[in-house]
Amino acid sequence: MALIRILVIFIVLWLVVRLVRRHLLPPGRGGVPRKAGKMLRCEHCGTFVPAEEAVSEDGHVYCSQEHRRLAGEGDGD
Ligand SMILES: [Zn+2]
Repeated sequence: MALIRILVIFIVLWLVVRLVRRHLLPPGRGGVPRKAGKMLRCEHCGTFVPAEEAVSEDGHVYCSQEHRRLAGEGDGD
């Protein structure tokens, strides 16, 4: 069934194009901005990150799991 093969190839291509476009296009251009939420400041490095990407623990906010870990270990050194 060559037709099904062609259909599958088209669907895969469509998904790839969608993913590539989503990554290449800056947010807020060509559509509704998805990350309209508030920005939180990492307590370790001071970088602002979207609230949904931030790592929070006991009321402290970090940009990544790495900085959460580093901030927690930084007391003794
Ligand atoms: Zn950080």
